[in-house]
Amino acid sequence: MRTLSGVQSSGKLHIGNYYGAIRQFVQLQDESEAYYFIANLHALTTVRDPKLALELTREAAVAYLALGVDPKKAVLFRQSDVREVLELYWILGTVVPHSNLERAHSYKEKVAKGISPDFGLFAYPVLMAADILLYSADAVPVGKDQIQHVEFARDWAVKFNTEYVPGYDPADPEGKERGHAPGLLKLPSARIQESTQTVPGVDGKKMSKSYGNTIELFADEKEIKKRIMSIKTDSTPVDAPKPVPTGLPVGTSIASEVPLYDLLKLLLPESEFKDVDASWRAGGKGYGDYKKKLLEAYHVAFGPARQRHAELVNDPAELERILKDGADRARAEATRLMDKIRRAVGVP
Ligand code: ATP
Ligand code: MG
Repeated sequence: MRTLSGVQSSGKLHIGNYYGAIRQFVQLQDESEAYYFIANLHALTTVRDPKLALELTREAAVAYLALGVDPKKAVLFRQSDVREVLELYWILGTVVPHSNLERAHSYKEKVAKGISPDFGLFAYPVLMAADILLYSADAVPVGKDQIQHVEFARDWAVKFNTEYVPGYDPADPEGKERGHAPGLLKLPSARIQESTQTVPGVDGKKMSKSYGNTIELFADEKEIKKRIMSIKTDSTPVDAPKPVPTGLPVGTSIASEVPLYDLLKLLLPESEFKDVDASWRAGGKGYGDYKKKLLEAYHVAFGPARQRHAELVNDPAELERILKDGADRARAEATRLMDKIRRAVGVP
């Protein structure tokens, strides 16, 4: 099985990126052939400062490594180091129905948040599909917000194969039956972890780099404390937190109405969370107590990664070496498929 996924270098990485995506990357590098990249071309849809773009690209690479992505096990590379992806982006775009892009949730949400509705943002799912299809990925570990994009990639791969591969039958995409040909583009599936599919931000909405509602993984301690203390709570008195509706099994999420509760559930080990849940239901403690608990849990969960991060930022030469090696391995794979695609569509 081949796994592929990426994180945009559109800002500093946050705990939603970890629990929704990177934690799975670390598990999957032991079980599959893994390709992980820093989506620095995608990030240009929101970052307009060249110095910052470069810095965030490096920072995302350091974050991957600090969190446990191992370049000996996985191919770790920058999206922009394999330019073939831009060629596939165009070719694939020629079979993409405009109507698909018009109903992309992520695009609509970002525009609603005030991000400029430029062509790049609109066409984002096509570049993402090219990212996935160029490496013939089977599984794409992502958060819930990206499921639709992976489904698009699958639909467009079928469309491309039907258009360009003689003997391709969409009902037999691997060409197992006689007279059928396998598709050039492999059909990917999203891989979601139910419990962490959408991590809420401090405002209760999906935690996102571009929404300013994150708890970062590697910000300094003061900043982390400030963010955790700013988590939205309701206006009930502090000594009587909003009770969890009774009758729910322990650990049931009461959703982002109470992001503090959800975040405690996410960051605490299960046994400790059980105690917090019981005390929350019993009442009597204030939100401030639970925020302190969350801060402690944060440092327990990410202390070692933060330590590694501090070491890695001091070795830019080693980082560059790792990324260059990853780019070479990724490019070798990409050029093989791209040659076939060019032949299939009639580009010399
Ligand atoms: P941006 O705001 O620039 O889109 P982002 O924070 O949404 O940034 P992405 O780089 O778009 O992060 O996404 C990287 C990965 O992290 C994707 O797999 C995405 O599904 C996952 N992810 C992002 N935010 C969350 C979240 N709040 N909960 C769970 N998974 C998330
Ligand atoms: Mg996003």
